[in-house]
Amino acid sequence: MEALSRNFFLYLSKNKSLNKMAKRYGLKFGASKVVGGIDFDRTVSVIKNLNNRGLCTTVDHLGEFVNSVDETRERTAQEIHTIQTIAKEKLDAQTSVKLTSLGLDIDHHLVFENMRNILTEAQKHGVFVTIDMEDEVRCQGTLDIFKGLKTEFDNVGTVIQSYLYRSRDDINDLKKLLPNLRLVKGAYKESADVAYPDKKDVDDNLKQMIKDHLTNGNYTAVASHDDQIINFTKQFAEENNISRDLFEFQMLYGMRTQTQLDLVKQGYKMRVYVPYGNDWYGYFMRRLAERPANVAFVAKGMFRS
Ligand SMILES: Cc1cc2nc3c(=O)[nH]c(=O)nc-3n(C[C@H](O)[C@H](O)[C@H](O)COP(=O)(O)OP(=O)(O)OC[C@H]3O[C@@H](n4cnc5c(N)ncnc54)[C@H](O)[C@@H]3O)c2cc1C
Repeated sequence: MEALSRNFFLYLSKNKSLNKMAKRYGLKFGASKVVGGIDFDRTVSVIKNLNNRGLCTTVDHLGEFVNSVDETRERTAQEIHTIQTIAKEKLDAQTSVKLTSLGLDIDHHLVFENMRNILTEAQKHGVFVTIDMEDEVRCQGTLDIFKGLKTEFDNVGTVIQSYLYRSRDDINDLKKLLPNLRLVKGAYKESADVAYPDKKDVDDNLKQMIKDHLTNGNYTAVASHDDQIINFTKQFAEENNISRDLFEFQMLYGMRTQTQLDLVKQGYKMRVYVPYGNDWYGYFMRRLAERPANVAFVAKGMFRS
């Protein structure tokens, strides 16, 4: 039943007509529970609200694939606007970007140029930028660009996914750059040629990666809703006298809100990933596919939003 429901929402997430309709009607069906707003200006009040509750944030502009150089430049300008708004509104916020929206599939020089413009503006305002990790075929390209940028900028980090066999080697290879890394399980459908098919191996590898990166003395963002991973991190840090300034937890906006607040109360840094933008529909459907329990959002949202 659960698999059926997952496939149903994944099917809906790819439906172009529904996507078009969603853009026309704004955040509906409870989507505002997991998406900050249809643009960044409308997301500011959501971030202020989170900040007032002790939660810091990273914001992500949701978007479809870009196909042209002009679209990547438009995305870059929008990202710069977001960074300027973060500074103007004094938000406790970082940004997260996907390199495909900045031209990864078009030309690496173009991505460097767009990222340099973004990071230069972000550096001016003390804003940190994380490069999200996309599917495995883009992993090496993303890491190459990250390494190039990291030699010029201190305010950039990236993501390593524990489902990939290569990831512990990547952490080892990157450690000399003293990188700030977000460690996750991984969100894409990958083949057993490159990724662990069993969840237990993905979980175990994430624990190993957390150990490796913290032991290397590098800043670690543990991005997971899984109590097992959160408790492991707390215990490992405690037993090894690792300062709470060296790591943080991250979760998605609208997921496990009480747990997020509990972690703040216990004195941990907790960052909420807040997506925003007109392309909210696919993201919303993927969250429903991931956790059909969230379908209750839809039922309630139908009457409210
Ligand atoms: C801040 C952030 C940034 C991310 N960035 C990337 C990225 O750049 N690239 C990428 O590939 N992936 C990214 N991801 C997604 C990530 O890779 C996982 O796909 C996703 O987080 C699901 O794995 P999990 O560790 O949260 O828990 P899962 O393995 O999905 O679940 C484990 C257990 O956690 C509990 N749980 C999970 N979700 C909930 C919930 N909503 N409510 C209650 N309990 C729950 C349940 O007990 C569940 O059995 C990111 C995730 C986060 C939180």
